[in-house]
Amino acid sequence: MLSEQKLLVVSAHSADWVWRSSGTIAKYLAGGAQVSVVCLTYGARGESGALWRQEGQTAENVKKIRKEESFNAAKVLGLKDLEMWDFDDCMLQVTPEIIQKLNEKIREVQPTVIITHDKGDSTNPDHSFARQIVERALVEAKQAGIPSNGLKPAKACPIYGFEASEPERSGYVPEVYIDITDYFDKKLEAMKCIATQVEGPHIHTRLSTHRGWQAARTIGSKDIKYAESFTMSTALVVEELPELKLQKF
Ligand SMILES: [Zn+2]
Repeated sequence: MLSEQKLLVVSAHSADWVWRSSGTIAKYLAGGAQVSVVCLTYGARGESGALWRQEGQTAENVKKIRKEESFNAAKVLGLKDLEMWDFDDCMLQVTPEIIQKLNEKIREVQPTVIITHDKGDSTNPDHSFARQIVERALVEAKQAGIPSNGLKPAKACPIYGFEASEPERSGYVPEVYIDITDYFDKKLEAMKCIATQVEGPHIHTRLSTHRGWQAARTIGSKDIKYAESFTMSTALVVEELPELKLQKF
């Protein structure tokens, strides 16, 4: 039941979550789920090239624009809990400080599902470091013995991995598809808020269309037009072996 889900999405940069999971987020919100998104950095250095071509540009102004874009996308989706953290991109590090901060966010949210970057995402090194940060923070969040501002430990939950922008270069193989056909219009509208990365809507419309075709073909459906795909961090535990059909858990 989506209304019982608490989804936490952790994005290395300000727009990764929009490209890779905004259809899923729109679907979860429509189903009554609680959704929280954390961007570890603004992506002001490595994913804001178009802004830096403007004369007299400053880091402060780039961050302001990237923040506005991300919050505009959140508004389109009806997402209320979006946090932008100001760690440095292009040199994102797995530090005790960022792990502790995310540990506390995980304890606050008590997620049933986490989505973040895939382990093998080589599009930007920050993406695989973000994955390591999430894995470390989740381990800490589950431990009662780690002081965390009095927040209670989180329960174990699966980590799903985003699709990379260039999946073949990252050795990416989809392990789960989520049907976003009814939410693709929202995704497209959200993607168009990210004006700095002009190629994003094209790249991710193509990927969502391709994954939709694959998902439809897998289960013999004529109804799935768009899908987002993810990798899985753990095996499913089920009462019965799943058949090839649209699964509802
Ligand atoms: Zn990124």
